[in-house]
Amino acid sequence: MEETAYGRDGGQRALDRDERARLGARAAALAAELAGRDVAAVALTWVDISGITRTKAVPVARLEHAATWGVGMSPVFDAFLLDDSIVSGRYVGGPVGDLRLHPDLDRLVPLPALPGWALAPALRYAQDGTVHPLDTRALLRREVARLAALGWSALTAFEVEWTVSEGDGGGFRPASGGPAYGMTRISELAGYLRDLLQALDASGVAVEQIHPEYAAGQYELSVAAEDPVGAADTAVLVRETIRAVSLEHGFVASFSPKVEADSVGNGGHIHLSLWQGDPTAAGTAADGAAAGTAGTGAGATGAGGPAGGAAVNVMAGGDGPYGMTGAGEAFAAGILDRLPALLAVGAPSVASYLRLIPSHWAGAYACWGLENREAALRFVAGADGERARAANLEIKCFDPAANPYLALAALLAAGRAGIGAEAELPEPVDLDPGALSADARADRGIIALPSSLEESVAAFEADPALREALGEAVIDTVAVVRRGEIELLDGATPEEITAATRWRH
Ligand code: GLU
Ligand code: MG
Repeated sequence: MEETAYGRDGGQRALDRDERARLGARAAALAAELAGRDVAAVALTWVDISGITRTKAVPVARLEHAATWGVGMSPVFDAFLLDDSIVSGRYVGGPVGDLRLHPDLDRLVPLPALPGWALAPALRYAQDGTVHPLDTRALLRREVARLAALGWSALTAFEVEWTVSEGDGGGFRPASGGPAYGMTRISELAGYLRDLLQALDASGVAVEQIHPEYAAGQYELSVAAEDPVGAADTAVLVRETIRAVSLEHGFVASFSPKVEADSVGNGGHIHLSLWQGDPTAAGTAADGAAAGTAGTGAGATGAGGPAGGAAVNVMAGGDGPYGMTGAGEAFAAGILDRLPALLAVGAPSVASYLRLIPSHWAGAYACWGLENREAALRFVAGADGERARAANLEIKCFDPAANPYLALAALLAAGRAGIGAEAELPEPVDLDPGALSADARADRGIIALPSSLEESVAAFEADPALREALGEAVIDTVAVVRRGEIELLDGATPEEITAATRWRH
């Protein structure tokens, strides 16, 4: 793939005259091609700190200008809460200033679910061409580059759980019933699910599995593993495609962590494997060899990569627990140690803590285990014979309110800190910690994850490795936005919290 200004340099380079010219020329050629395919407009998307995908769009005739000079936006968007009210902090909140949204031309795709539209993830720059410090996509690029500088790379994928409702987005009325994981649920919405798969295929998304989930109206889709930025872009694309196909069928899709106060929630589990070398480098995964994410089903194959090439998955083939190498174990331990802090970006809404409860497969305890769906960190070893490709970690305690770029940036930073400290994993847990008495859990050193957003934010602010990696502006802004939402929903009942969150992400 041709390197662009937003390319593989860690994404921190300022745009200069030459790069602007090159991007403009590329966009002009692309615009002509898009117009030939009846695409009228391109939506430039970014995900805000609260986890909501927001956008500004340009007609295709304006794509060249957008790629060269960007589309204006106010920095105040970094201070939005889930109800669109605005807070202010040390780094965000005022009405003054201008950022430039640039489409990432490498990731621009037509959206067949929205005929005439294409989507391009945006990167945000200041007017002088420097990268905006609160651009979470650039932040993730920087973390990828930091790992790469040490010889490592990661393959990742998001599992998407969502719930389909009839109606107009008022109350929740499940669009399918039938037994959990029942074939009935596919039969009831067969046309909808077919249209969804076709739309994703036409946008180039490699779907690996789709299935009905536990709750009425709930489904899950898993996709092939990619480089971290690609995986986060895909998570956004999948979500917007689901949303559009749902509307086309007269449904509304909810990506809330908790759609109904007394039901299971929607998870946003992340699969992650660490590689020595780069499995996505030309000649390896670029030819489509990258393996998929683990679904939660028996056919799970893991966020693995190609068997060939020089890159090696260090989650397998070692003499550590369940075959992890020392580096693989240290990476996992760096994440496990920081889960309470990581929740501030992975379980970022007040509603997240209605989902994150024991015995709901949400991973409410800070422990890890082999294929343990009640452990916040599940180790997926993969089937015998494909472990070198498939072994990976699944972060179960994260949910779909998370900004996927920010969540991955924080996970990579935590894993990198673990490698630096040669961290070791504690004993694995092979049962549901919620079934143990409090004393038995204490004996095994199993602690509950934070039960409120407030606790997670405090842990996030107190973590030196995350502060060092993400930077002061990000730590402060995440804390300000989270506290704004805590205040917004202060005193609300679980029903009121779910109602306020249900249709926002
Ligand atoms: N819906 C569950 C959650 O909230 C996850 C179910 C599963 O393991 O796939 O995370
Ligand atoms: Mg699931």
